[in-house]
Amino acid sequence: MRVSRGKGSGSDDRLFTVVVEGFGVGQQRRAERRITVPFQQLQTLIQSIARNGGRILVVSADAVPDGPISQAPAIPSAVAEGPAETAAGQVSTNPTPTPKTATVSHAAVPVNLYKPKDPFIGTVVDNYSLLAEGAIGRVNHITFDLAGGNPQLHYVEGQSIGIIPDGADAAGKPHKLRLYSIASTRHGDNMAGSTVSLCVRQLEYEKDGQTIYGVCSSFLCDIKPGDKVKITGPVGKEMLLPEDEEANVIMLATGTGIAPMRTYLRRMFEPSERDKNGWHFRGKAWLFMGAPKTANLLYDDDFNHYQSQYPDNFRYTKAISREQQNSKGGRMYIQDRVLEHAEEIFSWIENPQTHVYMCGLRGMEPGIDEAMTAAAAAKGLDWSELRPQLKKAERWHVETY
Ligand SMILES: Cc1cc2nc3c(=O)[nH]c(=O)nc-3n(C[C@H](O)[C@H](O)[C@H](O)COP(=O)(O)OP(=O)(O)OC[C@H]3O[C@@H](n4cnc5c(N)ncnc54)[C@H](O)[C@@H]3O)c2cc1C
Repeated sequence: MRVSRGKGSGSDDRLFTVVVEGFGVGQQRRAERRITVPFQQLQTLIQSIARNGGRILVVSADAVPDGPISQAPAIPSAVAEGPAETAAGQVSTNPTPTPKTATVSHAAVPVNLYKPKDPFIGTVVDNYSLLAEGAIGRVNHITFDLAGGNPQLHYVEGQSIGIIPDGADAAGKPHKLRLYSIASTRHGDNMAGSTVSLCVRQLEYEKDGQTIYGVCSSFLCDIKPGDKVKITGPVGKEMLLPEDEEANVIMLATGTGIAPMRTYLRRMFEPSERDKNGWHFRGKAWLFMGAPKTANLLYDDDFNHYQSQYPDNFRYTKAISREQQNSKGGRMYIQDRVLEHAEEIFSWIENPQTHVYMCGLRGMEPGIDEAMTAAAAAKGLDWSELRPQLKKAERWHVETY
């Protein structure tokens, strides 16, 4: 390894270029890379390279001559464990500022304020259908008043609550709780900070020639304003938003998986939210929404409105399986849309400020995985290596059920 003292100014503003091999994600590990960081991040970068088994060839404040150094696609901070690797993502000899990783803070996230043995009793404020005429099934938006609890039941975007339906199971025991993703921001739909909303699909399936309806989802879809409901939680830290106002957020949702995405998008683009939350999102958000029919799209008017108001910050891509065709003439599923936009999705993911969120029925995971594998391969990356690294860097968030 050659370490040059360089001809820098001697001030802390100097930029250093590190040439490294065996460091990074996927093909990056097989290539030599030049990583330019400010002096303050140099030591952390060197430590991080050592920790990750990389080999430093050159450290220099001089320009490192362009040689046969690979320009392999960079997935910055997919391996991030600290700030150095954030900087390490910038494979460049240009003295441009390196993008920072948008981290997710788990601090001050409330968890299990109410447990099943002593649940909070919420009051139904609203319960209405989210579906348009001709839709399949039943999906409702349900709001509960949380006022009066001690402690006050509060939550942040990306969390879930538990609902214990009234009644007893076949053995005569009280029903167990079911989890539901929260669909309102921490301020609630009325901005007063004391309500929570859910987006609930009534489970319905056929068994032995009979139609079976889910216990809790039916209970929720049937309750009326004024009814009392046992609520637990909140729970969950998997789907939290990064605090960085310049983060980029890719959202992959099917059906009621839209619930957490609605909270993010309201937080980002709803005027009353922006006024109140003081969090002025300036990054880019891209929602991929899968539904069987247009009539089954949830909160579609709101999202169309955000797109018209924030065209530079919000993209909304729909996959409507029974109405649209994919390139092979089959039904258009969300994974087909991911494949269509693979190049762009991966260039977003290369930015360490990008987070990806997936939510919906568990069945969506293999399709998305397949699409990401193909999309990554087109960029010379191995998704099976990359995904756990993105996960470890807390940039790949999945909640399926
Ligand atoms: C973190 C998390 C978040 C969630 N968020 C939401 C949300 O936002 N919105 C939402 O609607 N749901 C959400 N769910 C799902 C929710 O918790 C319930 O599982 C769902 O509402 C069904 O509960 P139920 O009481 O109506 O059904 P149950 O009466 O409990 O019936 C479910 C059972 O029926 C059986 N079953 C289901 N489908 C079939 C089938 N096709 N064939 C045969 N048997 C079948 C299975 O044994 C299954 O366990 C979430 C789940 C989790 C874990």
